[in-house]
Amino acid sequence: MEKSQYNATVVGKILLTPDIMTLRVDTDEPRNEFNAGQYTVIGLYGSEERSPNSIPETDPADPEKLLQRPYSIASATGQLQQFEFYISQVKSGQLTPRLFNLEPGDRIFVSKRIVGVFTLADTPENQDIVMIATGTGMAPYISFLRSYLISRPESNMAVIQGAAKQWDLGYYSELSFLENTFKNLFYIPTLTDADKTWTGHQLWIEQILEKNVLKDEAGIEIDPDKTHFFLCGNPKMVDNVSEWLAQKGYTKHTRREAGALHVEEFWS
Ligand SMILES: Cc1cc2nc3c(=O)[nH]c(=O)nc-3n(C[C@H](O)[C@H](O)[C@H](O)COP(=O)(O)OP(=O)(O)OC[C@H]3O[C@@H](n4cnc5c(N)ncnc54)[C@H](O)[C@@H]3O)c2cc1C
Repeated sequence: MEKSQYNATVVGKILLTPDIMTLRVDTDEPRNEFNAGQYTVIGLYGSEERSPNSIPETDPADPEKLLQRPYSIASATGQLQQFEFYISQVKSGQLTPRLFNLEPGDRIFVSKRIVGVFTLADTPENQDIVMIATGTGMAPYISFLRSYLISRPESNMAVIQGAAKQWDLGYYSELSFLENTFKNLFYIPTLTDADKTWTGHQLWIEQILEKNVLKDEAGIEIDPDKTHFFLCGNPKMVDNVSEWLAQKGYTKHTRREAGALHVEEFWS
């Protein structure tokens, strides 16, 4: 069948675990300028092969149909023709098992539109930023840091990354390097099922907040007038932490109303 809507080529694929990868694609044409934290839509036809490491899809895809889903951009805003995505495989899903079967040189659809309000645009230059993620919710923060870390020396920035095992901490090396290089970046990974070699935190994200780790390690206060919070990833984590922050006076940032709590949920 003619893959008429394909407009980009895979140029890199790194499997961090059998079900988590970074995928880099070159688009045939450059995209318009965008803000770090925004997302675009990528797609493959239902006729594409699924990865050997998947299970039959719950809802069988139409082979003629272009399966499309939104993905946050992990690359820096300066790159308008090469984009990085950080993707987890939903084994019974429609699109991700097909994405996990891709190899460099394969063709793919990438929308021309880049959209979303999960950005640093409405955070004053002198205020601190806390980015909290589970799983592939790290993607928009990698774009934030690659794009703006140097240009915002007045803001202390903390990344709290929650995971089960050490190998689930995608971008660990890059974040550790950035923390050692920039004095305004604080990287706080925390594991809930660590092995004996792990010397870092073993707390739930809510406990990290409760125990004042942000103040102690990054000098960051949990105060809506001083610090903006970003939450991205698992809806349960997002709900729980949102509720916790609401009790500290945080309100959600929306298109209509400014707030210091910014939320992006990847699925419901
Ligand atoms: C704004 C936005 C940005 C997103 N960015 C990313 C990103 O950067 N990386 C990324 O991996 N995903 C991201 N997603 C999720 C992505 O769009 C897809 O929903 C996901 O990849 C599953 O697609 P699928 O076709 O394989 O599964 P589908 O066939 O669409 O769905 C299968 C079921 O799995 C559930 N589900 C969806 N995602 C997950 C998940 N990660 N873990 C467990 N269950 C899930 C859904 O509730 C759905 O019922 C984003 C979603 C939104 C709304």
